[in-house]
Amino acid sequence: MKPVRIVVVGGGFAAVQFAKTLRKKLAVSECEILLFNRENHLVFHPLLADVAGASINADAAAAPLRQMLPGIGCRTERVQRIDLGSSEIEFDDGTGALSRLHYDHVVIACGAESNLGIIPGMTDHAFGFKVMRDAIELRQHIVHQMEHAEAATDPDRRQWHLSFIIVGAGFSGVELAGEINELVRSSSRFYRNFRREDVVVTVVHSQAQILPEVAPSLREFARKKMEEAGITIMLNSRAVAATHEGVELANGPMLKGGTIACTIGTATSPIVQALDVPKERGRIRTVADMRIEGQTNAWAVGDCAYIVNAYDSKPSPTTAQFAERQGRQAALNLVRVLKGEPTQPFRFKALGQLCSIGGYQAVAEMFGLRVSGFLAWFLWRGVYLFKLPTWSRRIKVALDWSWDFLFPRDLSFLNTDSTQYLTHAYFRPGDFIHRQGEVARVFSVIEEGEVEILEATEEGSESKVVALLGKGDFFGEGALLGSRPHETSARARTPVRLRQVSSALFSEIAATFPPFRELLSNAVIRRSGDLWRRLPLGKTILDREPLASLLEPLPAEMLHESSTVADAIKVLRESQSGELVILDGENRLWGTLDRGALFQIVARIAVTPVQEQESLIRRKLGEFVPRNQLSVALNDSTSMAFATMLVRGTTWLPVVESESEPRPVGTVRGERIANRVARKIAGTEADRARAAS
Ligand SMILES: Cc1cc2nc3c(=O)[nH]c(=O)nc-3n(C[C@H](O)[C@H](O)[C@H](O)COP(=O)(O)OP(=O)(O)OC[C@H]3O[C@@H](n4cnc5c(N)ncnc54)[C@H](O)[C@@H]3O)c2cc1C
Repeated sequence: MKPVRIVVVGGGFAAVQFAKTLRKKLAVSECEILLFNRENHLVFHPLLADVAGASINADAAAAPLRQMLPGIGCRTERVQRIDLGSSEIEFDDGTGALSRLHYDHVVIACGAESNLGIIPGMTDHAFGFKVMRDAIELRQHIVHQMEHAEAATDPDRRQWHLSFIIVGAGFSGVELAGEINELVRSSSRFYRNFRREDVVVTVVHSQAQILPEVAPSLREFARKKMEEAGITIMLNSRAVAATHEGVELANGPMLKGGTIACTIGTATSPIVQALDVPKERGRIRTVADMRIEGQTNAWAVGDCAYIVNAYDSKPSPTTAQFAERQGRQAALNLVRVLKGEPTQPFRFKALGQLCSIGGYQAVAEMFGLRVSGFLAWFLWRGVYLFKLPTWSRRIKVALDWSWDFLFPRDLSFLNTDSTQYLTHAYFRPGDFIHRQGEVARVFSVIEEGEVEILEATEEGSESKVVALLGKGDFFGEGALLGSRPHETSARARTPVRLRQVSSALFSEIAATFPPFRELLSNAVIRRSGDLWRRLPLGKTILDREPLASLLEPLPAEMLHESSTVADAIKVLRESQSGELVILDGENRLWGTLDRGALFQIVARIAVTPVQEQESLIRRKLGEFVPRNQLSVALNDSTSMAFATMLVRGTTWLPVVESESEPRPVGTVRGERIANRVARKIAGTEADRARAAS
């Protein structure tokens, strides 16, 4: 008889226990087990903090699945979709093409994803703490910060490099803070430019207590010991934004630091999101035996599943301890199903909790006993050593830990030249992105928000806003191409998200891609920033000219973001100016559209299959026109509005009441402003000539 095919999606604690148990119970001739995991190893999460803190090497906390799971087909491929109706999975076979595979039973054990997006700027400036890459990159970064601190001549900058912020004080936040503190303080003796006392490690936690899962006495012990070790714990402090400078706290100061590690925020895996099955807070709901509600051959275990524990009738927590037990019991239930026997509900009494807090200290609650201090730390190491999945990993970790006991932590890192990277950056309103006179390091493209360009005409004079840039605009190219400092400053007017390219990568692209080079040269010529230096009289005239005096009426017909593409085609066909202003539900400015931009939308629709085109034409405009397109406010200067049009290469701009009340009141046109300047200059010249004669 053909063996039953079981497909396991995931290769973490739940999936591995499932596959191991099933292989023990059923022979290869009875059942084929295929395990799909994005990586070719299991990540032993409880030791990730040790990897980040350089007390063990990364490979010791990653167990190769193929070697761990003999008799199981291990596939390092990402599953893209699970089709429960046809019992098939769709996976990326590595060539970019999607392949399909039929299964008799599928087990979904794909865990959860980290989600830094819950706090603005975290994705751009913080390290997540979920996958092995996070721990390796964090370790590299920490060592880098120490090297930068050694080289820094400015004491404030040195302090910034030596300040480490950990967001969240659950198990992983506390363990990570302990490890970073240990690594940096114990390594300070190898540096000359800073001392142990200069290191600042801060844990930011929104609740009133750290480690909410453990008993109050253990929590208190952990907090006291961490503070004694020099870690600052900020309770009842909520991080609201992260920037290049540090973390902004709700109702509090800006916490400055060159390293931010965010241990909070999880998101449902995309394949789970796409599944049309009952869910509870994003997790797949299962019946008692861990089959997905309403399914007979699909199971869900581990962090991605919502499984009620029959032991206490509570939902299982998302821990490795539970994931392993669920994996094991789901395998036993599957064997029962195949043999036609009744299944059993998931039932498990938690064994306890262990948390290392750094400095050879830990807290532990095991089998009802509470232990803290060195004994708990010893227990912590013993338990995790024993729990590592293979003997080779146990020996590796034991050797690394013994090394760490006898010798200082390893401060070497393989330099992967981060200057080559393409990065993101987030700025709050009012934050400077760069200042006039600073050396140019990056080329920036605005992904979201508005950036003010400021210029101080004389040294020491106050900077004035000379232009405004919006989504899709870029800056920094002039200084990079000319190898000179920035001639203007750039400041965020609204929350701004940038895509930034390092100077090295920028030069390489500019040198090798002619179209990019041409685009940049045109921008440099257009911007040659010194428009007003060459036309000082024009600036004087425009500074006296209120924007309101140049205002033109809004187009007769305005559309809403909920209007359709078909509406926009109709209105623009009849419009004389060929320009359209789009409003949101509260009649505030959503965006603008002209014939050129509409043509691009129509061209995008034209390349979709004919049967979809009709419905696309009826889709909301807001889906095609991004929100928050650039506008100027009535109280902005006319010279700034004019320079903005020149810098962006546009001929008109919508004008809103004010920055805080972005209701459109009219438009301004470059041509009209230029005419006004020309007329006034001509008038001034005529006056001069009259006076001379
Ligand atoms: C830093 C940290 C420390 C922790 N410490 C502890 C601890 O001390 N004790 C404890 O009990 N728990 C701890 N946990 C929690 C524990 O790690 C999780 O509960 C556990 O890993 C869940 O197991 P899982 O099998 O459900 O998912 P995971 O272990 O996350 O495994 C999911 C796997 O699925 C793969 N995958 C996802 N999507 C796809 C796809 N589309 N195609 C193919 N593969 C895919 C992923 O690559 C991953 O390998 C910690 C977690 C973290 C992040």
